[in-house]
Amino acid sequence: MSQPQDADARRMVKPVICYPVHTLPEPDMELYSSARATLTKVAEYIAPARDAVTFNVKAGQFFRIRSVEGSQVGDLNLWNANDLTERFYSGKTRALHGTHITTGQRMWSSFPALRPMATITHDTLGWYGIDDFGGSVHDVIGTRCDPYTHALLAGGQYHNCCHSNLTRAVAAHLGVPAAQAEPLVHDVLNVFMCTGFTRDTGQYFMKSSPVRPGDYLEFFAEIDLLGALSACPGGDCSSEHSSDVASSYPLLVEVFDAGEGALEGWRAPAPNLYDGGHGL
Ligand SMILES: [Zn+2]
Repeated sequence: MSQPQDADARRMVKPVICYPVHTLPEPDMELYSSARATLTKVAEYIAPARDAVTFNVKAGQFFRIRSVEGSQVGDLNLWNANDLTERFYSGKTRALHGTHITTGQRMWSSFPALRPMATITHDTLGWYGIDDFGGSVHDVIGTRCDPYTHALLAGGQYHNCCHSNLTRAVAAHLGVPAAQAEPLVHDVLNVFMCTGFTRDTGQYFMKSSPVRPGDYLEFFAEIDLLGALSACPGGDCSSEHSSDVASSYPLLVEVFDAGEGALEGWRAPAPNLYDGGHGL
């Protein structure tokens, strides 16, 4: 294909960061760090292999997603427990923090609230960084494995994709039919999943997760949360998902109270300050 004479010059233009984050309200990581030393476990939930579980976390509690029996990836949805229309906004979280998130970064909620729902306070895979393939862990670029894309690409009916697992869990939690629960399911945080984009074709890739039993990702709940976690049928996501081929393992969710007075000075974030006028 012909290209303009100044093609190279145009390509040489330096990128700028879309959303510089130096004006974002900073989480008080020192406070969270001292509160972490006072934690008492108050609840546990298991997401069975190729299935999902729901759990509630109160604002001011911590929760951990833990690998227990084998290398396993989890697909996480979060909602404001008091208003399910406020949900995790993967795309905006990606725009603010990048393709993968770790300690000190946050899961942001949908419009119009656009506020931190949860802050990552510890990540035992924080050492991984970005590997030579451009891969890293805990991505906000994937959507969730789902039976529609599977039918499109491979054909057939598979009912244990993360999308369906989350749908069943939410339907059971709310006591509503699947058709009513399904629209609540949204793009996930891919916990423990190791992913990136290929440098040559820009395609989304996955590779065997570096997670091992004992590893965990820990969050501080900034608002009252309903969570749903699916143990992906892809297991460690080293080969394929949307099938029963891979070894899949359960994931553990643990909820913790902080000690008396440990969160002195912390306040739940208020909804976004935009007035909703939209120029009308
Ligand atoms: Zn999945």
